[in-house]
Amino acid sequence: HHHVPFATQAQIASVIEKGHFHPAPVDWQRLDDYRREGGLVLLQACHDGSVTVEALMEAMQQANLRGLGGAGFPTFKKWTFVRQEAGPRYCAINADEGEPGTFKDRYYLERSPHQFLEGALVSAWAVDAEALYIYLRDEYPALHSVLREAIGELEAAGLVTPGYIVLRRGAGAYICGEESAMIESLEGKPGKPRHRPPFVAQKGLFDCPTLVNNVETVYWIPMIWQRGADAFSSQGRNGRVGLRSFSVSGRVKQPGVYLAPAGITLNELVDEYCGGMADGHRLAAYLPGGASGGILPASKADIPLDFDTLQAHGSFIGSAAVIVLSDQDDLRGVATNLLAFFADESCGQCTPCRVGTEKMLTLLERNEWDAGLMTQLSQVMIDASICGLGQAAPNPVLGLLKDFRGELAAQNVIVKG
Ligand code: SF4
Repeated sequence: HHHVPFATQAQIASVIEKGHFHPAPVDWQRLDDYRREGGLVLLQACHDGSVTVEALMEAMQQANLRGLGGAGFPTFKKWTFVRQEAGPRYCAINADEGEPGTFKDRYYLERSPHQFLEGALVSAWAVDAEALYIYLRDEYPALHSVLREAIGELEAAGLVTPGYIVLRRGAGAYICGEESAMIESLEGKPGKPRHRPPFVAQKGLFDCPTLVNNVETVYWIPMIWQRGADAFSSQGRNGRVGLRSFSVSGRVKQPGVYLAPAGITLNELVDEYCGGMADGHRLAAYLPGGASGGILPASKADIPLDFDTLQAHGSFIGSAAVIVLSDQDDLRGVATNLLAFFADESCGQCTPCRVGTEKMLTLLERNEWDAGLMTQLSQVMIDASICGLGQAAPNPVLGLLKDFRGELAAQNVIVKG
């Protein structure tokens, strides 16, 4: 799991200067080591023609590889959609990782940048992309230099044409993790989500068909090819198939990134992977999908953490950022904090989100909650917001109204309706 080293004097100086702190990344795997361990076999097979796109897509389908940024769309299908469109085409990797509680992409990038780059280059090859863009979260400056160096190693080894991989920095906007806002940002414009259709697979970067994949999705491609689709699809629990990387934080003994079977429950994840709850804390609630996935009570900690099951409970797994809350956490404060986050990060282009998040905040501050009004406002935001930010923003409030009436009463919140 995650070890954060003690800060050096230089890092402390950087905190004071820039207002944030970045521990140095762990030692990352250099190109030579990656090759020695069997890396780059797939990329070379793609380049010398011994692998076909069809064979690669079949392997990804068998492994049941899905988009791991949040939407869960089958990877091979996305490739098919982009390939159907006339070129030129582009590939863009979403490394913006801004969902609160999510740190799995960072975990893989700062250890194995070459496995990630190989997967990204293979994806770009699969759609015959003119260039490969990587949009990196600006709060990861140490990773920026790791990736720059790793790309340099590939270029120096003659494995990629200099300039083919374009590494871009985000600018700290949560909304730029939304794929069409990320594309706007890559084009040098303010990060505002686009209306769909057209989808980015049809008209994305520079109005060309664009394949957008999350970091972790492409990270698994070389491994699936080498070890076989079974290595992935033979895993799973409670009837679900595959593996998932959970970023676990909050009131557990050992927070961190855990690769666990898909379909695992929160109780299993906490007990088997995180060493149990932190001392003196009793599970009260959890956020299964960062800020966007809603809030579930301890009584629902034994349902499979997967897309369909959670959706049936009005929740969303997203990028599998699990935040564990205890009897010592102020749940109303959590909801207020999340709504304030969404209000801050709203790009402001549509009214239900821009005004809805602010309005919801004022309703949360009252000591008497009008459940009818809050539900109506939520429904307008869900139905009429352009993108996922506004659609997901009311989730924490709806969760509290549904499953936490007792806790609200204990906090002297009177809920009417
Ligand atoms: Fe912008 Fe919010 Fe509308 Fe998304 S829902 S486009 S973030 S205002």
